[in-house]
Amino acid sequence: MAVIEERSRSEWQDLDRDHYLHPFTDHKDLREKKSRIITRADGVYIYDADDNEILDGMSGLWCVNAGYGREELVEAAEKQLRQLPYYNSFFQCAHPPSIELSRLLKEISQPQFNNVFFAGSGSESNDTIVRMVRRYWDLLGEPDKQTIISRVNAYHGSTMAGASLSGMKPMHRQGGLPIPGIVHIDQPYWFGSDRSLSPDEFGLETARALTKKIEELGVDKVAAFIAEPVQGAGGVIVPPDTYWPEIQRICDEYGILLITDEVITGFGRLGEWFGADYYKVKPDLMTFAKGVTSGYLPLGGVMVADRVADVLVEKGGEFFHGYTYSGHPACCAVAIENIRILQREGLIDRVKNDIGPYLQQRWRKLGEHPLVGETRMVGLMGALELVANKETLERFDEDKGVGAMCRDFLVNNGLVMRAVGDTIVVAPPLILTHEQADELIEKAWKCLDLTQAAL
Ligand SMILES: *Cc1c(COP(=O)(O)O)cnc(C)c1O
Repeated sequence: MAVIEERSRSEWQDLDRDHYLHPFTDHKDLREKKSRIITRADGVYIYDADDNEILDGMSGLWCVNAGYGREELVEAAEKQLRQLPYYNSFFQCAHPPSIELSRLLKEISQPQFNNVFFAGSGSESNDTIVRMVRRYWDLLGEPDKQTIISRVNAYHGSTMAGASLSGMKPMHRQGGLPIPGIVHIDQPYWFGSDRSLSPDEFGLETARALTKKIEELGVDKVAAFIAEPVQGAGGVIVPPDTYWPEIQRICDEYGILLITDEVITGFGRLGEWFGADYYKVKPDLMTFAKGVTSGYLPLGGVMVADRVADVLVEKGGEFFHGYTYSGHPACCAVAIENIRILQREGLIDRVKNDIGPYLQQRWRKLGEHPLVGETRMVGLMGALELVANKETLERFDEDKGVGAMCRDFLVNNGLVMRAVGDTIVVAPPLILTHEQADELIEKAWKCLDLTQAAL
C-alpha cells in the first residue's frame, strides 16, 4: 500500500480543513475557504492537485535554492537513512555526516568561522544565538551584558526567542513578547521613510540608531546586534550602501558581537555564499537554515567565529543547550550534497554574473508600470512597491488589501510571489533560466494590469 493514499482534490481539502491547523494562518478564514493542494514539483515549477503548473517565484519559503526534483539530494538522504538514520551528538558521540558538513561549512564561510553548532531550523538557531551570546559574556565575567539589539520588522523566527528577536508587533502581541533583554531599533527602509534624506544619508542615520541605543542602554549591558543582511519576510528591505559599513564600524567601536541572520541570504541568494560576504562585513555569529539543504530536509545552525568559540572552549564548563536533532545525519548528508551542487554547477556565480543581473534588469522594467512606485533586487531577491499615485508615491489604504489582491491574481495565473502588505516580493530558485525569468516578468506585468483593472 502506498504511504500516501490517492485522494481527490476536494477530499484533501476537506481533511485539511477538519484536522490541520496551518502555521501563520487565520484558521477561521481558511476554514471558510480551501487550501491549494500542491502535489509535486520539478525544477522551478510546482503543480497543484488539478495539475496547474505554477512558477515558484518564492523557492518554497525562500529555501529551494537548487530547485525541485534533485535526484542527488534524494539519493544522499536515502543512502544515509539506510546506513545510520539517526544518532545524536550528545555524550561525546559524533557521526561522519555532521563532521563532514562542519568541515564543508568552514570551507565556504569567512576565515573567522571554524566552528558550527547545529539546530533543526532557523528559529531554533536563533534561540541558540541568544543562549550562546549570553553565555559568552557571562564566561568573560560580564554577566550584565545580556541585551541583544535587533530591528523593527525583522524576521528571526517564531519560537519564543526567535519571535522576540523578530520586530513584528502583531507577533509580539501574542504571548507577551519580546522576552526580557531584547530591544529593537529602526530598519533601513528608505522607501518606507518620509524620503527627506537621500538613501545614503538615510542609511547612515538608521545605522547610527545603533549607537544611540547602545549609549542609552549602556555598553556594559549590550551583548550583540542581530540583523538580516537584507530583511526578507519584512518585505525585502535592501539597505542603502552606507548602512552595513557603518554598522560594522559601530559594533567594532563598542566591541559588541555582530550577528548576521543568513537564513535567507545564505547559500547563494545574493550571489555570494553569505550576505555578509556580499556586504563585506565580518560577523561573529551567522544563523543559517533554509537554503543549506534547499529545503529538502530541515536543518539549521550557527556559524561561530573563533572569538566566541575560543571562549566557550577555553573557559570550559558544560553549555546546557542542544537539540535531539542537532546534526541529524540524513539532514547533514543532504546539506553536504546540496553545497556540492551549488559548487559543481557554479550556481552562486550564476546569480552574481548571469541570471542575477538579467532578472534585475528585467525587474527594473516593472517599475514602468503605473501601479509600481519602486523596484529593488539584489542577487535573486527582490520587491515591488505598489502605490496609489506614481507621481507622489502615495500608498494605498492598508485595508484595501491591494497587495493580497495582486498576489491572488499572480497565483491564479501561474506565478507564486508573496505580498507583504502592498510590497510584492520574489526569490526564485537559483537555477532559473533566462526564459523562465522572462515568463516571470510577463506574468507579473499581466497581473499588475489585472490588479489595476480591478481597482
Ligand atoms: C525563515 C527565517 C527564520 C526562521 O526559520 P524557521 O526555519 O522557519 O524557523 C529565521 N530568520 C530568517 C531571516 C528567516 O527568513
